[in-house]
Amino acid sequence: MISNKMVGLVQNSSIIRAMFEEGKRLADIYGAENVYDFSLGNPSVEPPKEIREEILNIINMEDANLVHGYMSNSGYQDVRTTIADSLNKRFQTSFTGENIIMTVGAAGGLNVILKTLLNPGDEVIVFSPFFGEYRNYVDNFDGKLVVVPPDINDFQPDLAEFETRVTEKTKAVIVNTPNNPTGVVYSETTIKGLADVLNRKQKEFGISIYLISDEPYRELVYDSIEVPYLTKYYNNTIVGYSFSKSLSLPGERIGYLVIPNEVDDYTNVVGAANVANRILGFVNAPSLMQRVVARCLDAEVDIASYNRNRELLYYSLREYGYTCIKPEGAFYLFVKALEEDDKAFAAAAKKHNILIVPGSSFGCPGYCRIAYCVAYETIKRSLPGFEKLAKEYST
Ligand code: PLP
Repeated sequence: MISNKMVGLVQNSSIIRAMFEEGKRLADIYGAENVYDFSLGNPSVEPPKEIREEILNIINMEDANLVHGYMSNSGYQDVRTTIADSLNKRFQTSFTGENIIMTVGAAGGLNVILKTLLNPGDEVIVFSPFFGEYRNYVDNFDGKLVVVPPDINDFQPDLAEFETRVTEKTKAVIVNTPNNPTGVVYSETTIKGLADVLNRKQKEFGISIYLISDEPYRELVYDSIEVPYLTKYYNNTIVGYSFSKSLSLPGERIGYLVIPNEVDDYTNVVGAANVANRILGFVNAPSLMQRVVARCLDAEVDIASYNRNRELLYYSLREYGYTCIKPEGAFYLFVKALEEDDKAFAAAAKKHNILIVPGSSFGCPGYCRIAYCVAYETIKRSLPGFEKLAKEYST
């Protein structure tokens, strides 16, 4: 009785669900401490203490009808202004509250902006490897996903390949930096090159192409690396931000879109996004969390913990003979599978109670993603398994 479209979607989702079930099954047999589940991007460090404090302050001090009530579909005006001011201070931009739409996480924001922009058949370009849910989000609005193959030397977008895929039907390009699943931060040179291609193609075809910067990992970077703020490089940029990872609040579903005045057809885009937020059924982003994050914009999670995990995992894997790029941000490491078939490789890892996600789920077969947002001890205990796995392929 379910829709034909959902039949396919349910089948695809079951791969991830099966992994989750498998983790539980292995934990029952071997004990949870002997199962190394690197499959989920669920933050392992606690939210900063300010979150709890501000939740209590707001509940105790603010008017309950305001805190729990409806507001504009775009969010509380004061919260949006506070976020705009904070961005301006950090990135020398000139946003106002009118440029900000509070959303139900990055997922909500992406669906809002894609609903706002897409006509059926419009093309949305993504760079492999990419967050697999983009495929579903684009499909929600009958768009067509166009995938640019990866440059496996450094996993920066391949701009020459990109250029060949831009057509008069291209409506949007989604980038994600720091990247899930590679942990790569797109360099300023890459961003400038991307903007160059987009500007040229907009002119050539006489169209508007929106660059959607999906950046839930902006704050999770190592070695003080800079993550360029994309609105400064290309006028038609829309930013999708989330507090899921930066403040370890994925279940609270809170984020925002930035729609700068400079984007083509700004007034209609921002107006339509406001309506899309309502009619997609979000209505507005969670009210209490809007008020909480506005008070915690400078709070930070314990990135040093993720960094310890990154160092241990990366250097250990390299020592055992694996090929991978040292992640510069997020909490993922993208390792080359030791055989061509990444699914078979993930299955071989499972024999050592190591759960990792095949790169095919990110449009990039031949690799696997290791989410190292886990306890340090889990990584430590998993290492003999990784070493044995490598040995199995070297003999
Ligand atoms: N975009 C990317 C690249 C992600 O990795 C995720 C979550 O893992 C999301 C979007 C969705 O994040 P949110 O929890 O804010 O909806």
